[in-house]
Amino acid sequence: ARAREVIERAGREERSVLSAEEVYAIFEAYGIPVAPWAMADDAGQAVAAAERIGYPVVVKVDCAAIDHKSDMGGVAVNLADGEAVRAAVEEMQARLGSHGELRFLVQKFMPGGRELIVGASAERGLGHLVMFGLGGIYVEVLKDVVFKIAPVTRTEAEEMLSGIKTAALLDGVRGEAGIDREAVITLIQRVSQLLTDLPMIREMDLNPVMAFADGAVAVDGRIRI
Ligand code: ADP
Ligand code: MG
Repeated sequence: ARAREVIERAGREERSVLSAEEVYAIFEAYGIPVAPWAMADDAGQAVAAAERIGYPVVVKVDCAAIDHKSDMGGVAVNLADGEAVRAAVEEMQARLGSHGELRFLVQKFMPGGRELIVGASAERGLGHLVMFGLGGIYVEVLKDVVFKIAPVTRTEAEEMLSGIKTAALLDGVRGEAGIDREAVITLIQRVSQLLTDLPMIREMDLNPVMAFADGAVAVDGRIRI
């Protein structure tokens, strides 16, 4: 109910791209694990949020007019103290303020995971297509992704993980630990449930999902209605 309300309000306000706060609230309503986060309107709030979350943190700009945050210098990772958080926020305010009202997502820094992508798009007459792949160059250069139509069953989610060409990377190479497949399978199924319940979503992506030997969490999300 909470997720539907968030989307319906955005619709009434004629906003097609949800804010970070709305996206994470919807993910949490569906039990999709996300890195600990809080929103801030200014540097002071961002520092207070970082103290609650615990260092190191990431600061990201949140602005309806900015789609790819890192391309715009709107993502500052691995911030170790309040001074670094304050500097990151003030620098983004000065440089990006002309794009419109800025808010800031303060998020736990989650290093060392395997970056995965889970995406979805509404296809006329078909419902939602759910996409899965590895992040970074694997998706951009190698286009190594697989698709299923929602609802995605457990077996289909398992097939998605084993269906990419680089599936071996999920099991770990050269002594690296493999990822928690069970956590990713559950995450994909919850994404599928969310899409089935909320057909007004046109596009959604979790990019990246950070997958670890123990658990997987989304650290970036977009929803377009
Ligand atoms: P965008 O996709 O809008 O450029 P992201 O939020 O995906 O912004 O951040 C860009 C990149 O920064 C991610 O792909 C990831 O490599 C890294 N990153 C973002 N958030 C975190 C985090 N909480 N912990 C670790 N790395 C992160
Ligand atoms: Mg991203």
